[in-house]
Amino acid sequence: MAKIGFIGLGNMGLPMALNLLKAGHTVKGADLSAARMADLEAAGGAAAGSATDAASGVDAVVTMLPSGREVAMLYLGDGGLLAAADKGTLFIDSSTIDVETARKVADAAAAAGQKMVDAPVSGGVGGAQAGTLTFMVGGPDADFAAAKPLLDVMGKTIVHAGGAGNGQAAKICNNMLLGISMIGVCEAFVLAEKLGLDHQKLFDISSTASGQCWSLTTYCPVPGPVPTSPANRDYQAGFAAAMMLKDLKLSQDAASHAGAATPLGAAASQAYGLFVGAGNGGVDFSGIIRFLRGAQQDA
Ligand code: NAD
Repeated sequence: MAKIGFIGLGNMGLPMALNLLKAGHTVKGADLSAARMADLEAAGGAAAGSATDAASGVDAVVTMLPSGREVAMLYLGDGGLLAAADKGTLFIDSSTIDVETARKVADAAAAAGQKMVDAPVSGGVGGAQAGTLTFMVGGPDADFAAAKPLLDVMGKTIVHAGGAGNGQAAKICNNMLLGISMIGVCEAFVLAEKLGLDHQKLFDISSTASGQCWSLTTYCPVPGPVPTSPANRDYQAGFAAAMMLKDLKLSQDAASHAGAATPLGAAASQAYGLFVGAGNGGVDFSGIIRFLRGAQQDA
């Protein structure tokens, strides 16, 4: 069993840390919130005095932080986690952050004699609680092999996407595609409404024709055709529009940095920016169909 430091005990991090505890590992946690650390202690974990304390004297450190800013701030520099940890400590950063920062931190980890993978997730809070997350992992083969047994405790599907930063690259490419495809499906339903074509008829045809995609067949943005989709519960998230916007912005930062043309990714980012700016950040991302109709009502 491993000694693990866990930094960032938020909506995702706390249930992930609890699964590591349940599997018999020792977990020392750190968070800005005392209440979150108390929750970890109540489940048999230990509260660290600071993030650097959580990273000291352990075999592995998992971080689940809001953005690249916090990751760079905590990992780098003389007083950072990479310097404070014992040599050869395994770092797993599961936060969703920009590729550039992920690669910068990975380089610093290698220079400090630490092992490191970036391992962002999909599956949301439900997946974190159930231990069924998908991990998209970037880093050297040996570091992936070292991280895999711990990732197996917190997730169900673990994919090695290549070298450092490739986990983040996979996550933002997938979510850019998802944002674009959701808007495309919503536009098709909005046009169908104007043309007098029934939702169910369009679904029956497109779900077995060339317009078929996950946003239509699993996460249909109108109520009815897919009873489990958020459209059937007034667009309660699910996957919140603010989270989609965060990932689309990351995709556009990466596209700009890498010189990739992503005109539809840019348009999707703008559309979700308007939707979230109008007060819909907590609404499921499929709720953008209401915005595309130009009114806050269901058809
Ligand atoms: P959250 O805001 O609930 O949790 C982040 C935690 O980090 C907070 O508890 C905060 O106090 C802590 N924190 C921030 N700065 C810190 C510091 N300097 N030292 C110690 N603790 C610090 O966010 P979340 O929903 O758990 O998401 C975490 C990451 O996972 C994000 O990058 C997010 O994009 C990604 N993600 C979230 C979901 C989701 O459904 N919530 C899904 C996939 C990916």
